[in-house]
Amino acid sequence: MGANHFNVLILGGGTGGLSAAAFLMRNSRKYSVGLVEPSEWHYYQPAWTLVGGGVYSAEATRRPQKDFIPEGVTWFKEKVIKIDPHNRVVTTESGKDLTYDYLIVATGVEYVYDWTPGLKEALDTPYASSNYLFNYAPKTWELLRNFKGGKALFTVPHTPYKCGAGPMKIMFLADEVFRKNGVREKSEVVLYTPGTVYFGVPGFKETITEIANQKGIKGNFLYKLVEVKPDVRGATFEHLETGERVEEEYDFIHLVPPQAPHLFIRENNDLVEGAEQPGFLNVDRYTLQHKKFHDIYGVGDVCGVPFAKSGAAIRKHVGKVVKRILASLEGTQYDKKYDGYAGCPFIVGYGKVVMAEFLYDNVPAPSFPRWLIDTRKPSYLMWLLKTKFLPWMYWNKMLKGKMIDA
Ligand SMILES: Cc1cc2nc3c(=O)[nH]c(=O)nc-3n(C[C@H](O)[C@H](O)[C@H](O)COP(=O)(O)OP(=O)(O)OC[C@H]3O[C@@H](n4cnc5c(N)ncnc54)[C@H](O)[C@@H]3O)c2cc1C
Repeated sequence: MGANHFNVLILGGGTGGLSAAAFLMRNSRKYSVGLVEPSEWHYYQPAWTLVGGGVYSAEATRRPQKDFIPEGVTWFKEKVIKIDPHNRVVTTESGKDLTYDYLIVATGVEYVYDWTPGLKEALDTPYASSNYLFNYAPKTWELLRNFKGGKALFTVPHTPYKCGAGPMKIMFLADEVFRKNGVREKSEVVLYTPGTVYFGVPGFKETITEIANQKGIKGNFLYKLVEVKPDVRGATFEHLETGERVEEEYDFIHLVPPQAPHLFIRENNDLVEGAEQPGFLNVDRYTLQHKKFHDIYGVGDVCGVPFAKSGAAIRKHVGKVVKRILASLEGTQYDKKYDGYAGCPFIVGYGKVVMAEFLYDNVPAPSFPRWLIDTRKPSYLMWLLKTKFLPWMYWNKMLKGKMIDA
């Protein structure tokens, strides 16, 4: 085989791709491994919520990608533009054809601004921001701390999106900032979401609803954001069942762009047709193996199955995917299944986090016995976990292939 053939080829060097590469190299050095990733930087996205809340610096959320590419892995610093699953060929932007025995697709999602007209333009006005972008998260904090009162709108996209609680976390922090600055009385804090509740996991659903009610937040459910009109500071929402349209005006709006896999995936019918989440990679829920092409696996946000799109979920499935591939290469068996576990440190205020852990279909799965620590109650310990332990663990363990479940 030529220099452009790999036993395992990994597409994307974000949370999923890098931890796959690192875990693989820790478990075996017998195989050739290639990684295609165009970015100079690696981002720890979960801390962007804290940047928007003014308790974390944006710079601390990124590190040079080159420092995390495991030794022995061949890095192609460019974009993938095509996957041909029939011939096992991946084409890169510069025209290289890379071939593979096994392919791990971990290119995450992209933001599809066109699906919400006006959203992108609004981000560049002094009234809108998004924690979902490295360049804008610091702006969220600037706008929140300088908010003088009025209507603050928080929106949730109508597509699957990363960190299900993300849009609500910043809403709870905003409420506290407004109170501290004495402007909460003359403000409305309003959420529009396509969901039916703030958060669906039993036990946490009740806690979060109660906190939102206590804070006087107005939740509007089953609404899709259809347009932002930055010139008049307006937003149009549509009720998903009745089709009724609501026009809102805002003095601040937090936006989360619609999300989907990159075009080279979502327009490749072979890869996406039949997926539980349309346009996402058609993989099996429990093995993350592609349903049609058994030499292809998905890791992370690109997967078209309904685990919570999060680093926490990746930590629980990436090791299983790698072990399954290694077993296939070695002609042995690996049968452990991924149960959809994800953990969500749900920030409900400064120093207050409830730790929601759950499996597929929102089945609660607490790591700690309730008598020891009831993670449904806001806790400072979980705040420390979110703000200190998890970032440390990410950079020092997970991206080095350690503390990964398999
Ligand atoms: C505001 C916010 C808050 C969050 N909070 C949490 C949290 O509290 N807890 C938690 O667990 N998770 C959280 N997440 C989610 C978590 O960050 C993501 O789920 C995780 O990073 C997904 O990993 P991934 O590898 O699938 O994608 P990513 O980490 O996004 O990586 C995808 C990689 O693919 C690369 N790529 C893109 N296009 C191409 C191409 N054409 N060719 C090759 N490479 C390409 C990109 O450069 C990128 O490096 C949060 C995310 C955000 C934005």
